[in-house]
Amino acid sequence: MARCIICGRELTSDEIGLHKKLVNRGATEHECITCLAAHFRCTEQRLREKIEEFREQGCTLFNQ
Ligand SMILES: [Zn+2]
Repeated sequence: MARCIICGRELTSDEIGLHKKLVNRGATEHECITCLAAHFRCTEQRLREKIEEFREQGCTLFNQ
Protein backbone atom coordinates (compact mmCIF):
# COMPACT_ATOMS: atom_id res chain seq x y z
CA MET A 1 0.00 0.00 0.00
CA ALA A 2 1.34 3.45 -0.94
CA ARG A 3 1.83 5.92 1.87
CA CYS A 4 1.86 9.72 2.09
CA ILE A 5 5.43 11.02 1.85
CA ILE A 6 4.63 13.77 4.40
CA CYS A 7 2.65 12.09 7.18
CA GLY A 8 2.90 8.38 6.32
CA ARG A 9 -0.82 7.70 6.19
CA GLU A 10 -2.04 5.04 3.76
CA LEU A 11 -3.28 6.53 0.50
CA THR A 12 -6.47 5.82 -1.41
CA SER A 13 -6.37 5.53 -5.19
CA ASP A 14 -8.27 8.85 -5.36
CA GLU A 15 -5.54 10.57 -3.31
CA ILE A 16 -2.83 9.19 -5.58
CA GLY A 17 -4.82 10.33 -8.62
CA LEU A 18 -5.32 13.78 -7.13
CA HIS A 19 -1.63 14.20 -6.42
CA LYS A 20 -0.78 13.16 -9.98
CA LYS A 21 -3.39 15.51 -11.40
CA LEU A 22 -2.46 18.56 -9.32
CA VAL A 23 1.28 18.13 -8.78
CA ASN A 24 2.99 15.81 -11.23
CA ARG A 25 1.46 13.14 -13.41
CA GLY A 26 4.66 11.11 -13.37
CA ALA A 27 5.10 11.25 -9.61
CA THR A 28 5.97 7.99 -7.89
CA GLU A 29 5.61 9.40 -4.35
CA HIS A 30 2.38 11.01 -3.27
CA GLU A 31 0.74 13.14 -0.59
CA CYS A 32 -2.57 12.40 1.13
CA ILE A 33 -5.49 14.79 0.75
CA THR A 34 -4.76 16.45 4.10
CA CYS A 35 -1.17 17.24 3.16
CA LEU A 36 -2.21 18.32 -0.34
CA ALA A 37 -4.72 20.74 1.19
CA ALA A 38 -1.92 22.24 3.31
CA HIS A 39 0.32 22.33 0.23
CA PHE A 40 -2.25 24.29 -1.80
CA ARG A 41 -3.56 26.25 1.22
CA CYS A 42 -7.13 25.13 0.57
CA THR A 43 -9.59 22.89 2.38
CA GLU A 44 -9.82 19.11 2.13
CA GLN A 45 -13.47 19.58 1.20
CA ARG A 46 -12.43 21.66 -1.83
CA LEU A 47 -10.06 18.90 -2.95
CA ARG A 48 -12.80 16.27 -2.53
CA GLU A 49 -14.97 18.40 -4.81
CA LYS A 50 -12.10 18.54 -7.33
CA ILE A 51 -11.85 14.73 -7.26
CA GLU A 52 -15.56 14.52 -8.13
CA GLU A 53 -15.11 17.11 -10.89
CA PHE A 54 -12.21 15.17 -12.41
CA ARG A 55 -14.15 11.92 -12.09
CA GLU A 56 -17.14 13.46 -13.88
CA GLN A 57 -14.80 14.62 -16.66
CA GLY A 58 -13.84 10.97 -17.09
CA CYS A 59 -10.24 11.43 -15.94
CA THR A 60 -8.57 8.03 -15.98
CA LEU A 61 -6.62 8.78 -12.80
CA PHE A 62 -9.82 8.28 -10.78
CA ASN A 63 -11.96 5.18 -10.41
CA GLN A 64 -15.18 5.55 -12.34
ZN1 LIG B 1 -0.20 13.18 4.45
